[in-house]
Amino acid sequence: MVCGKPALARVSYLGGHLCGEHFVEYFEARVKRTVERFGLVVPGDRVAVAVSGGKDSLTTLYLLNKFSREMGFTVFGVAVDEGIRGYREYKLEALRRVAERIGVGIVVGSFKEHVGMTLDEAVVRLREKGFKIKPCSVCGVFRRYVMNRVARESGATKLATGHNLDDEVQVFVMNALKAHFEGMSREGIITRLGEPGLVPRIKPLYFVPEKEVLIYSMVRGLDTPFVECPYVVHALRHPVRHWINRVEEEDRGFKYRLLASKEIFRKKISMPPGRTSKCIVCGEPSSKPVCKACLFRAYLDRKYKEKVLEALRCGKVRLDSDSRFFIEEKVSKL
Ligand code: SF4
Repeated sequence: MVCGKPALARVSYLGGHLCGEHFVEYFEARVKRTVERFGLVVPGDRVAVAVSGGKDSLTTLYLLNKFSREMGFTVFGVAVDEGIRGYREYKLEALRRVAERIGVGIVVGSFKEHVGMTLDEAVVRLREKGFKIKPCSVCGVFRRYVMNRVARESGATKLATGHNLDDEVQVFVMNALKAHFEGMSREGIITRLGEPGLVPRIKPLYFVPEKEVLIYSMVRGLDTPFVECPYVVHALRHPVRHWINRVEEEDRGFKYRLLASKEIFRKKISMPPGRTSKCIVCGEPSSKPVCKACLFRAYLDRKYKEKVLEALRCGKVRLDSDSRFFIEEKVSKL
């Protein structure tokens, strides 16, 4: 499309093909423009990149590290070890290799250390209870909890995640299917700004399709093993991802149009920022008296359930209907 050399990738945004050299140039410029245009970082920022060891997070780490000197901020990685045997150890190994190669430090926090159990242990308990709650729901809540805590305690001023265009539209559709309007309106390119105790989240790959991230990570040698989390089969995201990819194949540009719909929705239905206070059990930021991580811990761990119920008795708090339902239906009846 530019130089006549053999094409490496089709770039949907440009509607044409690029050779390897021009693809890398285009990709890096696009992400940098996103960072600058949306003011994702400012000079002096200390950016923690949430790294799982997958292609998206490694690409985010690599690129932010590349831009950091010129733009005047510093970068380090934060990884969460959920304790998923046969999966997480391989991804962490890949992450350590890349981090060492590009000279970036990594801090690792684990579920075991911060929520008292590995995900494998949590899944055994979920199975005993008939999988009324899916592993990914627990994993997501615990991961956000540990990630924010480790990033904040490491002095991060921003937390960058590797969410790409595909992730964003998948979450938008999943939220729409659950009529979760708050989630639909809140999850943008930058979130949690000015919410006490929460490190603001930024998403530099917001406009880039997953396929292009994959190609870039391969060209740059950001190798990651092709292992999949054993619990992915339980995720609602799975069928949603397949459906969106199928429509995109038949109707090019569908994903960009979905993202545009999401942005229009966010502008029209702007929710007031969530009021954040502290969880009465663990002291971490929460919009409710008891944070979701503590509710899930209580559901999975009898001793912790006692702690939550005791805190509720002492705190004499008024629970909203969601938390009350959770505690009455899921925790108290253990
Ligand atoms: Fe966690 Fe689900 Fe992702 Fe596995 S697939 S790492 S359980 S969110």
